[in-house]
Amino acid sequence: MRKTAIQTKDPHIQALARIVGGEKSILYKKEDLIAYDCDGFTVHRHLPKAVVFPKNTEEVAAIVKYCHDHDLPFLARGAGTGLSGGAIPLNGEVVISLTRMKRLLHVDLENRRAVVEPGFVNLKLTNSIADRGYYYAPDPSSQYCCTIGGNVAENAGGAHCLKYGVTTNHILGLEVVLPNGEIIEIGENGIPDPPGYDLLGLLTGSEGTLGIVTKITVRILKNPEAKQTVLAYFDRVEDASQAVSDIISAGMVPAALEMMDQTAIEGVEAAAFPVGHPKDIEALLLIEVDGISAGISEQINEILHICKKRNVREVKVAQSEEERARWWANRKTGFSAMGAISPDYLVQDGVIPRNKLPEVLKNIRAISKKYGLRIANIFHAGDGNLHPLVLFDARKPGETERALAAGSECLQVCAAVGGSITGEHGVGIEKKEEMRFIFSDEEIVAQTDIRDVFNPKNLLNAGKLFPTPGRCVEMKQVASSIK
Ligand SMILES: Cc1cc2nc3c(=O)[nH]c(=O)nc-3n(C[C@H](O)[C@H](O)[C@H](O)COP(=O)(O)OP(=O)(O)OC[C@H]3O[C@@H](n4cnc5c(N)ncnc54)[C@H](O)[C@@H]3O)c2cc1C
Repeated sequence: MRKTAIQTKDPHIQALARIVGGEKSILYKKEDLIAYDCDGFTVHRHLPKAVVFPKNTEEVAAIVKYCHDHDLPFLARGAGTGLSGGAIPLNGEVVISLTRMKRLLHVDLENRRAVVEPGFVNLKLTNSIADRGYYYAPDPSSQYCCTIGGNVAENAGGAHCLKYGVTTNHILGLEVVLPNGEIIEIGENGIPDPPGYDLLGLLTGSEGTLGIVTKITVRILKNPEAKQTVLAYFDRVEDASQAVSDIISAGMVPAALEMMDQTAIEGVEAAAFPVGHPKDIEALLLIEVDGISAGISEQINEILHICKKRNVREVKVAQSEEERARWWANRKTGFSAMGAISPDYLVQDGVIPRNKLPEVLKNIRAISKKYGLRIANIFHAGDGNLHPLVLFDARKPGETERALAAGSECLQVCAAVGGSITGEHGVGIEKKEEMRFIFSDEEIVAQTDIRDVFNPKNLLNAGKLFPTPGRCVEMKQVASSIK
C-alpha cells in the first residue's frame, strides 16, 4: 500500500506539505527533484530543496509567506520551457509549480477578454474559444505546452507578434502574490492609461523576480476574416533580407514574416515535419497576411512582386489550410529540429535593426568559423528578432564553454549595431552578464533598486536577470583564449 506520510524530518518540508495538503502535492526526494534541476536552458543544473504544487492563490500566498518568514529562497515555475534558465533553482529554492492551477476561469466575449489561472497552457486558450470565432494572439512556438503565467513572466513573443504585439500588449489585469505573501490585484480592466504607475507593464517581463502571478486577464481577438501564406526560396540571404525590408517599407504589416537560413533548413527537413524545402538555398521566407478579405490578394500580389524583384528562386502561396499548417509546423518546431542534426544546441535571442541583417549574419558566420561550431539562424525577420542556434556536442571537452562564448559573441554583435540581447526569451541566468552590453552600471543599479522594493530580501528568484560582479571577466577570458 502507498505510504502517504512525509518521509523526512526536515521541518520546512513538513510545514510546506501541510500547506498544500500532504505528500501528493510536494516532491522532496532527490530522484523526484532531478526533473526540476533545469528548464529549456540545460547547461546549468541545480537541485531544488522541494517542489510544491499549490491548487489556489491562498496556498501560493501561504507557501510564499512561509518561505519569506523562514528565509528560504523560492521561485515560480510554469511548464519549464524557458530558454534562459529563469526557472533553474540556482540557490536550492523551493520551487512553486503552478501546473495544478490550470483552469480557464471566465470568457467574456462581449468585452473580448478571458481570465485564466497561471498554469493554463497558451494554445488551450485559443482552442477553447476557436469555435466561437476568437483566439489569443501571442503564439510562442512552444505554445502547445508553455503556460500563460510563464508567458507573462517572460513577456513572450511569437511568429505573429509582428502585427499583434507581444504578451504585454494582451494583458489587462493580474493577481499577484508579492514576495512577502501579500496578494494584490493590478490592472484597470483594460482602461487606457489608468492613473498611477504602469504596474502591469512592470510585472510583465519581470522574469518571476517581483511576484508570483496567480490569475491573468487577457485580451482575446476575433479571428481574422481571411489569411494567406507565402513561402519564398532565395539563393542569396542578402536578397531575402532585402525582400523583408522592401515588404515593410511598402507599408505592409504582415501577420508574420519569418526567415530560416540554410543550416536551419537542413535541421527542419531532417526532423518530424519536413515539407521538401530545397537544401541548396541560402534562405527561405514564410510570410503570412491576414485581415478583412478585401485587400488580401492585393497584398499577396505585392509580396510576390517584391520577392521576384529580389531574385527569388521559387515562391508559392499555400493552396489549402492543410498546406499552411504543414509549413507552420515545419517552422514552429525549428528549435527542437536542431536535435536531428546536432547532439546539443543553444538558442540565442538577439534583436537588430532590420536593415543590419546582412551585416549581422556575416558576423555570425565569422563567429561560427572562429569557434569551429555550426550556427543555424531562425528568426522573426519582420521585427529583427534573431535566433542564432549554436550547435555543439556537450560530450566533447570544452565544447559547451565554446558554445556559450560563441552565443555571447552573437549577442555582442546585435548590441553593437544598436540592437538588444533579448527579444522574447528573457535574460534569466543565460544572458545576465550580457546585460552589460546594453546597460551602464547605473542603469543596472536603477533596475535592481526596483526589484528590491518588491523583493527586499531577494529570496524570490535570486541570481537572475542582473550581472554578477566579476563574472564577465571570465567570459572574456574564454573568448580571448580562442584564436
Ligand atoms: C521549442 C521552444 C520554442 C520556444 N519558442 C518561443 C517563442 O517563439 N517565443 C517566446 O517568447 N518564447 C519561446 N520559447 C521560450 C518559452 O517557451 C517561453 O519563455 C515561455 O513563456 C515560458 O513559459 P513556461 O510556462 O515554460 O515558463 P517557465 O520556463 O516555467 O518559467 C519561465 C520564467 O517565468 C517565471 N514564472 C513562471 N510562471 C510564473 C508565474 N506564474 N508568476 C511569476 N513568474 C513565473 C519562472 O520563475 C521563470 O523565471 C520557446 C521554448 C522552447 C523550448
